[in-house]
Amino acid sequence: MSDNTQIWQNGSLKPWHEATVHVSAHALHYGSSVFEGERVYATPDGPRFFRLADHTRRLFFSARVYGIDIGYTPAQIDAACRAVVRANNMPSAYVRPLVFRGPGGLGLLPKEEVIETVILALPWGSYHGDAREQGADVCVSSWNRPAPNTFPSWAKAGGQYLNSQLIALEARRGGYAEGIALGRDGMLCEGAGENLFLVLDGVLVTPPTSSGVLVGITRDSVITLAEHLGIAFEQRVLPREALYHADEAFMCGTAAEITPIRSVDRVTVGSGAVGPVTRALQDAFFGLFDGRTEDRWGWLTGLDEDASADVDGDPAHPVSVSAVVHDREDQEAAIRGRTVRKARDPMEASS
Ligand code: PMP
Repeated sequence: MSDNTQIWQNGSLKPWHEATVHVSAHALHYGSSVFEGERVYATPDGPRFFRLADHTRRLFFSARVYGIDIGYTPAQIDAACRAVVRANNMPSAYVRPLVFRGPGGLGLLPKEEVIETVILALPWGSYHGDAREQGADVCVSSWNRPAPNTFPSWAKAGGQYLNSQLIALEARRGGYAEGIALGRDGMLCEGAGENLFLVLDGVLVTPPTSSGVLVGITRDSVITLAEHLGIAFEQRVLPREALYHADEAFMCGTAAEITPIRSVDRVTVGSGAVGPVTRALQDAFFGLFDGRTEDRWGWLTGLDEDASADVDGDPAHPVSVSAVVHDREDQEAAIRGRTVRKARDPMEASS
């Protein structure tokens, strides 16, 4: 990375090589960090953050879970995210705010509380490369996601990603693009760094928020877009074999965006081609960034816009309140074996 690249560290912008941490930093030893991954898209109106306020809200939620006092307001973090993209003059970017326990002692709970905050902005294209068009070949990992009440899956904390690394490493060794993990109950959970959706008998389904998944912001966007497109949707506890039964499957996340799955454990998903529901959701999602999909949800914000006004009030919710309500409704309905969102043919829907 060139030394002209600017990093925001503890309140000011610094050249790449000056943004350093001490080797005694607590987070280096114990994984005590919380972070976000955000995207800025190059839109016809210039660079636009995607759901910045929601990412900041989840960052504060993660910090709250781990007792980390960020020391800035959500509005200040938002402003710093925008500033680092502006300082690097980037048309698009992957933005990484990271808050961690710094030097202050090697005790499990450090004696001195030193919290550091850095924000990086890097160029980052398609996470799974060609798979966005062709589909990814994935495997079911032999590693499980953490059991309930071990690592809180709604929080996005550095140490929790050791589990994700085991899943991703095993997949890579086996020649797969990604690993899908089961929960401790043997039910489908999520990818190493993505949420998982399947299309089963025409219904879009995803494991519920109580299944050990990160409550992904892209997941919530997919659910919202599916509702908008009239695609039948439900959250359902799913067994592993649903992967081999599905007509379509895809992974989603800020880095992965919407990446179709072509095969699982070398078993072809559906016809092996990107299916109509996945395609409709991809079109609606990527359409947000090239102007084909109207941003009726206020998800896109410019580098000079203060999108955080409504974040200050309640940083405790990991995703927007409306999404939490969706989840409850959907879960209750799923338990009763009902589909909440009624189907229209996705191909008939317009964005
Ligand atoms: N699950 C895991 C384990 C992840 O790391 C990610 C990426 N943050 C996701 C799901 C997707 O979350 P989001 O859409 O908020 O990026």
